[in-house]
Amino acid sequence: MEWTRSETLALASADCATCHGLGLVIGKRTESPCNCVLREVFRTCYRRFRYCVAKEKSMTKTSLQFTPGTDRRRAWGRKDEEYMADFVLVARRELAPKEYRVFNYHFLLGAGWALCSKKLEIDRGNFYHMIYRIEQKLGRVFRELEPYGLFPLEEYFSSTVETARPFVAPQTAAPDRLPVHPPLRRAA
Ligand SMILES: [Zn+2]
Repeated sequence: MEWTRSETLALASADCATCHGLGLVIGKRTESPCNCVLREVFRTCYRRFRYCVAKEKSMTKTSLQFTPGTDRRRAWGRKDEEYMADFVLVARRELAPKEYRVFNYHFLLGAGWALCSKKLEIDRGNFYHMIYRIEQKLGRVFRELEPYGLFPLEEYFSSTVETARPFVAPQTAAPDRLPVHPPLRRAA
């Protein structure tokens, strides 16, 4: 997938010393998203995760979702619960074991740096360094995940994702004969 300037511009930090608020860093051959953009993607997804966790369970609802593919089946799903599961499962899959421990303590269990550094035996500087690295790593994955990323949230939570793959009617050969109609009974 490609990152566009119009997308990164909205996510970049205005006082970022690396991209100066543009959100893209120009490499030798390509442009890549700045770390401030990746962190903002993660933080947006994390805010939604916390919102889903704190939400009253009676407020969650089922929604009709389209299954991409040729059969275009539909299924009922609970998007909030699916999102929370995806958020944690993707983090578990993508992070190194030590990173996931920090992610678990800090982002899932809500421990601050003092408790994390004591429990994980890392100093404050290394703790925040790892937090930044986790945010950047997951921010990129959440955006670039195929076929559907967790970000942008409106696309994830949309139940009409199937529109990304337009329906093509199967080609049928033109009939070489006229259809046969049953003879009509003549009126007596
Ligand atoms: Zn930046």
